[in-house]
Amino acid sequence: MTTTKLTVREVFSYLDAIAPFYLAEEWDNVGLQAGSLDQDVEGIVVCLDPGGEAIRRATEMSPSLIVSHHPLIYRPLDSLVTDSYPGKYLAALCQNTISLIAAHTNLDKAAGGASDCLAQRLHLQETIALLPEGRSYKLVVYVPEADAGKVRTAIGDAGSGMIGNYSHCSFESEGVGRFTPMSGAKPAIGEPGVGEAVKETRLEALVTEDRLNAAVSAMLRAHPYEEVAYDVYPLRRRERHVGLGRIGLLLQPMTLERFRDLVARNLGAPCRLAGDSGRLINRVAVCSGSGSSLIDEAAKQGADVLVTGDVKYHAAGAALELGLAIIDAGHAGTENPVVDYMYAMLNQAFEDRGVRMGSVYGEEAWRLE
Ligand SMILES: [Zn+2]
Repeated sequence: MTTTKLTVREVFSYLDAIAPFYLAEEWDNVGLQAGSLDQDVEGIVVCLDPGGEAIRRATEMSPSLIVSHHPLIYRPLDSLVTDSYPGKYLAALCQNTISLIAAHTNLDKAAGGASDCLAQRLHLQETIALLPEGRSYKLVVYVPEADAGKVRTAIGDAGSGMIGNYSHCSFESEGVGRFTPMSGAKPAIGEPGVGEAVKETRLEALVTEDRLNAAVSAMLRAHPYEEVAYDVYPLRRRERHVGLGRIGLLLQPMTLERFRDLVARNLGAPCRLAGDSGRLINRVAVCSGSGSSLIDEAAKQGADVLVTGDVKYHAAGAALELGLAIIDAGHAGTENPVVDYMYAMLNQAFEDRGVRMGSVYGEEAWRLE
């Protein structure tokens, strides 16, 4: 049995589906940072930082791909010096046929992404985004009644109509579509020069930006008409499960000190605590990485505690003034769970292509000998 070689392009498309790159913050730099979309991939290394250890492992599997959370090229380069950061790593990538894709704030915000991984590791319930976003659209198409089922299934299978834990959500109403084929037209119903009236179904479904192109393509393929009448409306609603940070509830209230111990145990990371350790907590906000910017929002939404990393002395003080306790589990401590998630997702997606896999946690990343 021969399997076609996996390319960087295929992995890129997959990443764009599970952590859409459009979600990245404007200041961020995500996507392909080194190598080529056409390069073959025999191994994938997932990591927080594309440093020496990730490159060493990727070199053993070359041609390979590093999927990193933090970008290697963050600000525009003013030189490419190969004996200092980041030039030495970029040179090593190019010399060893290793491509690099960064999935940073897009992965932080994505459903199932970095903050969701953190929330799940702490067993939070009823979790939603602290700052919901994510663009969505209403796809509306007019289709002859007899073909409505086929088109409905096609757009649902392409990922439209996802609402919470429900898939294939749609709405239909009946009406009459009218058209007159002009000369040169090859109508599925009717003939050129004769006005036609057809019983049609107006089929509508919600679709998020990352699924929009796939849903429209699937709809056009399934529709019998030569020229399809359809609309795509941008919506103002925000996807509750996409965006920065997460907020949810504990299975049962516990003291802050006990929760700190649970966080430390479940993340395998030492935790700094700011707040009254005997206080009972229930509502928990989390943000993977550096989440001090979400202190105000977490307090506003009634969180008892924010679990994040990189919290400075004055930021912790400001949080306490707002009645919000802080558990600082470190930048890598709060992001390492997403390494496991990405490893599992990519392994599941591409294991039948014979790809070797590796992963590197935050603390192991640096040094290129
Ligand atoms: Zn980070």
